[in-house]
Amino acid sequence: MNSILPYHTTPIQQLSDPVFVNAGIGVFVKREDINHPTVSGNKWWKLKYNVEEAIAQSRHTLLTFGGAYSNHIYATAAAAQVAGLRSIGIIRGEEIKPLNETLSFASAAGMQLYYLSRDTYRRKDEPAFINELTERFGRCHIIPEGGSNELGVAGVAAFAETLPSDFDFIICPVGTGATLAGLIRGRAGKGTLIGVPVLKGGDAWIKEVEAFQPQYANWRLFGDYHFGGYAKSTPQLEMSIRAFAERHGIPTEHIYSAKMFFALYDLAAKGFFKPGANVLALHTGGIRTPQSI
Ligand SMILES: *Cc1c(COP(=O)(O)O)cnc(C)c1O
Repeated sequence: MNSILPYHTTPIQQLSDPVFVNAGIGVFVKREDINHPTVSGNKWWKLKYNVEEAIAQSRHTLLTFGGAYSNHIYATAAAAQVAGLRSIGIIRGEEIKPLNETLSFASAAGMQLYYLSRDTYRRKDEPAFINELTERFGRCHIIPEGGSNELGVAGVAAFAETLPSDFDFIICPVGTGATLAGLIRGRAGKGTLIGVPVLKGGDAWIKEVEAFQPQYANWRLFGDYHFGGYAKSTPQLEMSIRAFAERHGIPTEHIYSAKMFFALYDLAAKGFFKPGANVLALHTGGIRTPQSI
């Protein structure tokens, strides 16, 4: 992968599990969680063209938005550092000291952090507000929350084009929907794409995904696996994380990947996938390995 950001080629691993044997399906995981130690998972692909565009436009600063636990803030700070750019993080809510792991990493990577009240933060995508930011911080390459802009979707689409073509289904977690949209675009009508919203109100994401890619309809959402909402968990979900790690040696976390794998097992057990189907789960990352801290 030729890019400003180093990329480690990741394996596709088969999951052997009685649930999948009983369903008569082949299940595989694309390990994008290990594609880079700090700019990891889907965030690498969402940032790739954003970083390249900033450099092409001679904008020396990436400015972006996120909550205090945002993987995107973490990844953007790391990507900017790797690419020799400055970075500004506009954080939702008040500053809380000591900084949590996400923000102390971002700060150590050189990101300047600014905090906005939740009310002001809601204006983050308004053109007038963007103008105010530009007046204050100068010409920056501004990336929306989650890295979810056209360049982000295009990056994920480029990733999807690198995948083998013979999967009947590809499943991924859905935050903003940009990653799912990129997969749909990159697959260009092949197979069925499945999104698992990790927030409540799953149907709202249909519009978001369609806005990012109006062209293809070979996708669907399963909105019943949010476990109470964003970053919420239950003992059942925590148990599934431990069982999955023990059985397959693959770490997952309760915000994104564990909800997606839970949905995958549940759909397989319920016979959603026809016997003979090959299913690819995209591990989008979100794991903070010791070397990434
Ligand atoms: C950000 C993130 C997502 C959500 O991606 P969207 O493009 O916003 O839907 C999924 N998984 C992980 C690990 C993430 O960090």
